[in-house]
Amino acid sequence: MAFDSRGKSPRAGSARGADTTGKTNPGAAEENGLSENSFSDDSDNQSFSPVSSNGPRADLFDKCDLDTRADELAARGLYPFFIPIEGSEGTVVRIEGEKKIMLGSNNYLGLTHDPRVLARAEEVARRYGTGCTGSRFLNGTLDLHERLETDLAALVRKETALVFSTGFQVNLSVLSTLIGRNDTVIIDKLDHASIVDGCRLAAGETLRFRHNDMADLERVLKKASERPGGKMVVVDGIFSMEGDVCDLPNVVRLAKQFGAKVMVDEAHSIGVMGKTGAGVAEHFGLQADVDLVMGTFSKSFASIGGFVAGDRRVVDFIKHNGRPMIFSAALPPYAVATVQACLDILKAEPERREQLWRNADYLKHGIQRLGFDTGPCDSPVIPVIIGRMLDTFYFWKELLKAGVFTNPVIPPAVPENTARLRTSVMATHTEELLAEALEIFGQVGKKVGVI
Ligand code: PMP
Repeated sequence: MAFDSRGKSPRAGSARGADTTGKTNPGAAEENGLSENSFSDDSDNQSFSPVSSNGPRADLFDKCDLDTRADELAARGLYPFFIPIEGSEGTVVRIEGEKKIMLGSNNYLGLTHDPRVLARAEEVARRYGTGCTGSRFLNGTLDLHERLETDLAALVRKETALVFSTGFQVNLSVLSTLIGRNDTVIIDKLDHASIVDGCRLAAGETLRFRHNDMADLERVLKKASERPGGKMVVVDGIFSMEGDVCDLPNVVRLAKQFGAKVMVDEAHSIGVMGKTGAGVAEHFGLQADVDLVMGTFSKSFASIGGFVAGDRRVVDFIKHNGRPMIFSAALPPYAVATVQACLDILKAEPERREQLWRNADYLKHGIQRLGFDTGPCDSPVIPVIIGRMLDTFYFWKELLKAGVFTNPVIPPAVPENTARLRTSVMATHTEELLAEALEIFGQVGKKVGVI
C-alpha cells in the first residue's frame, strides 16, 4: 500500500485511469501493462541498481538487455530521469518550451543567477581560461583555489581546507585515505552514496547504524571497539532525501565516549544552517568537537566541487594521498570564482538564509496541510512520501505537466516502499510562486488520488 503510514492507498477506488469521481488513478499505469511487480519481485529489483547476468557463458552485456525498466517507463510516458532543461531563471525553468516552477534543485540560496556571481565567473574565465587542464597535484593549483581554501577553513573554523572538483571526490578521497586496514568507519544507514562508496574504497571495515538512532550507534560503537585500529563516525548534517537533521550532539557524545573521530558531510547544510551559514556543526555549537567537515559547492554555492576541512596534518595527508583528487583535474577557475563570490554573499547577506527558512516553513506547512506525508523533515529539503514507485512516477508526471518540477526518488536512494517526490526551496522563491506550486500540488494530488 502506498500510504502505509496514513492507512490510505492512492489506488483505492477504480483501477481505471479515471474513476467515477473524476480522479485519475495511478493504477492506470498498471492497467496499461506496466506493473509495479516489474519493480518488486525482490528487493534488488525495486531500484535502478544494476542487474547481473549469470552462468559460465553469460555475455557481459546481457544485463543491459535484461534491464528493461527504463524502457517500460518510457513506453508509458512515465520515465522521469534526465529531463533536459532548456533554460533557467533559477526559480523557473523551461522544459519542452513551457515554464515550470523549480521545486527540485539544491540551489538553496538561489545564487546561480545572481548578477554578481555571474560577473565574477565571467571575469575569471577571461583571466585564467576555461579549465586547469591538470590535477591540483601538478599543474592545476591556482592562487584562487588557495584563497578559497583559506576562507572556507575560516568559515567552518578549522585549521585548513582542501578544495576538490566534486563533493563525491571529497568523500572518496577522505575515506579511502584515512580508513586503513585495521580501522573502522561507522556510518548512518542513510548517509549519502559518496560516503558509502568511499567506505567501499577504504581498506578497513564499515559498520552501519540505523538512521539517526543513537541507541543503535552506541551498539555499533561497542562492536567497533572490539577491533584494533582507529574509528570514525561519518554522518550527513542534513540528510539529502529525508530533509531531517543529524543528532550531532549525541553523535559527538558517543564518539568521544568510544574514542572515535567525527566527520560531518555538510553538503546540504552549509549556507543553510548555523549563525554564519557554516552548517550543522555551527548550529549545534559543536565546531570544535567535529574533527572533519566536508561540504559541496553544488548546492548553496551554486557551482560544482567540494572541500574537506580539519587539522593541517590530517588534510595534508589527504592532499598527498587522496587518489580521486591527485589523479583528476582541478576545479576550473570560473567554478572557484563562483564559490568565492557566493561565500562573500553568504557573509554579507544573512537575510538570504532567513528568507530560505521562511520559504521552507511556508512550503512544508502548505504541503502538510494538503494532506501529504513529509516525514520528519526540518530543512529546505521537503520530501512528499508516496510509497510505491509507480504511483510516485505518475504523480511526478502529472505535476510536471501542470507546471511544477520535482524529483522522484526511489530505492535504493530511500528505504523500500517510501518512494517520494523530493522538493526543495530556494531563498529566491517568492511566496506567490510557492502558493502557485501548492495550488497545483493540491489539484494534481486530488486528480491522481494521492490525497
Ligand atoms: N554528500 C551529500 C550529502 C550529497 O547530497 C552529495 C550530492 N548530492 C554529495 C555528497 C556529492 O556532492 P557533489 O554533487 O558535489 O559531487
